[in-house]
Parts: sequence; structure tokens; C-alpha cells
Amino acid sequence: MKRWIDVIILIVVMVLILPSLIVAIFSKRDSTVPPPIFQPGEEEESIKVKESDGAAYYDEPTITLYNHYSKALEPMPLEEYVEGVLAAEMPASFEMEALKAQAVAARTLAVRKMKASGGSGCTNHKGADVCSQYSHCQAWIPKSQQEKNWGNKYEENAQRIHRAVGETRGYIMTYNDKPIEVFFYSTSNGKTEDSAEVFSAALPYYTIVDSPGEESAPRFRETFSFTNKKFAEIFKGKSPKSGLSAGNLKESIKILNRTESGRVGTLMVGDIKIKATDFRVMYGLNSTDFSFRYEGDKIYIDTVGYGHGVGMSQTGANAMALAGKGFTEILKHYYRGVKLQIFL
Ligand SMILES: [Zn+2]
Repeated sequence: MKRWIDVIILIVVMVLILPSLIVAIFSKRDSTVPPPIFQPGEEEESIKVKESDGAAYYDEPTITLYNHYSKALEPMPLEEYVEGVLAAEMPASFEMEALKAQAVAARTLAVRKMKASGGSGCTNHKGADVCSQYSHCQAWIPKSQQEKNWGNKYEENAQRIHRAVGETRGYIMTYNDKPIEVFFYSTSNGKTEDSAEVFSAALPYYTIVDSPGEESAPRFRETFSFTNKKFAEIFKGKSPKSGLSAGNLKESIKILNRTESGRVGTLMVGDIKIKATDFRVMYGLNSTDFSFRYEGDKIYIDTVGYGHGVGMSQTGANAMALAGKGFTEILKHYYRGVKLQIFL
């Protein structure tokens, strides 16, 4: 009889206790290792991310912003900061999946700069992780400015921004387990640019990829015009010994080479060899994909695209979203070989 009791006890242990023990062990492991949403080499498919997916692992940090509106340092929860960036960096009318991709890009840029995670902070404002200046860290606008920008669309737009940030809550892009250096811009010329052509660093996740659907952007093609005199003056202001004059522009300007993406690499202006990225800044051009036309006493510069071309094109992201792609696919397309994971 006692033997039967032993067998029953053994069965109870095997059937009831063992499985729950195994579940307990594995769920404990699950709670310490957050799941990346995608990894390099995974299928390019749309992966739905629920707000709750990373919530258990995400301990939201505080970021210190230098706010150019209040001219003060303002500590705030990271996600609140990302909402202010998204409101400033992308039209709220863009597709939800494009907004979500932009939210991840903005969050990644912020985390990489944060001193608490080993970043340099904002180098213009002591004590700040980031500042609200678009040309230095990334654009950020307070609620008061959002109300001004959006008028009677404020409630609707604020909700869209809140949703895009909430549905990507805590997620950043990493490479070798570090937040990537994020670049994005408005509109490409149909292809993205290699980071080495624009910035000094050749980053492995910035290779040239196609970026269709850019033609819809209002500034996709724009022409800049200068009188020959003005053009020569601007150049001589930087390089007095170029030999350039209002009378010799046509024979003095020569594009030396274009990059693989079709943008100008370097050009000769008079006797001066200049990088297209510097030339773009000098004349306030939309992009480095440009060509020249000469008519009478004027020079015309036709540009394609708007921005440096490295990383995600916002117009391209919106086009992908309109074509039914999710934000994970958008990010994987523009940032090659990165991982999307919760910031720990
Ligand atoms: Zn800054």
C-alpha cells in the first residue's frame, strides 16, 4: 500500500510541480533579458510592438534639457522629452508608422548624448544632456509652441505624437550594444548617402540605400539663383584668392566628381577645390545634389532633395508607411544592421 502512495506522490510531483518549476525558472530568465524587437539578419517583416512589450524592463530615466524658450536647464522624463522632439522634427500629419520611426530615432539620439549613459551631453550648455536647438542637438518645442504651431489641430496632433511615442516607449537602436549615432533629414534625392561622404566617420549602418517616394515633398526640387556678382562676392568672402569674378563664373565652376548616390563630392570654383558639403553651407543650398545653369547676369543652382542624406529620410519614411510598412521595417531600411531594443 505504501508503495502506491509513493507512486502517487511521484506522479503529483511530475505532473503538477515540475512544469510549474520549469515555467518559474524560464519566466525568471525572461524578466531579466529584454527581448529585442529585431536583430540584424532577421526577416524584413512588420513586427507589431505593443506598448506593454518593453514596459516590464524599462526604467524611464530623466534627461536634462537646455530649453532655449525658457533659457533654463529643465530635467524631465525621457519620454516627455521625446514627445517635444517629435512635435518639432516631423509634421504631425505624417503617417503613424513614420512618426514612430522618428520617435525611436529621437530617443536613440538623446540616450547616446545622455551623460548618465556615458554620453558627452550638450557641449554648448553646461549641465545639459541635450539642448533644444535643431542645429546643435535636436529640435524640441514646448507645449506653448506646439499650441502656436498647430492652432485648432493641437488636441488631435498632440494625441498622435503621444501615441507614436507611447507605442515605441523605451525602444532605441543599438549597434554592438551601444546606441547608434543617429542622423536623419527631410528628403533625399532618391538615395541615401554614405556617412563618410558627409561626416568624417564611416559608420557601418550608413550605407547607400534607395529611398523612393521623395518626389511628393514640396522641396524635392528647388532652384536657387544669385546674380553673378553676388555669387562671386559670397565666394570671395571665404576665399579671396580664388580668381573668381562676376564675368568668369561659367568657365570657373567645375564639378569634379559625384558620390555613388549622385550628390556632388567636390568641385572647383576658380582655383579653389571645395567639398560640396562646404559649398552647400556657403550658399544655403537644400542639398549637395546640385547642378548649375547660367543665364545672362544670373547663375541658377538646381537642387534635388533636402538635407545631408545620411540615414532616414522623413519623406521616404512617410512614403514607406503609406505603402503599408511598419516602423520596424522603416528603421531597418535606413539604419542597416542595427538592433531595436529597450534602453536599459
Ligand atoms: Zn546642444
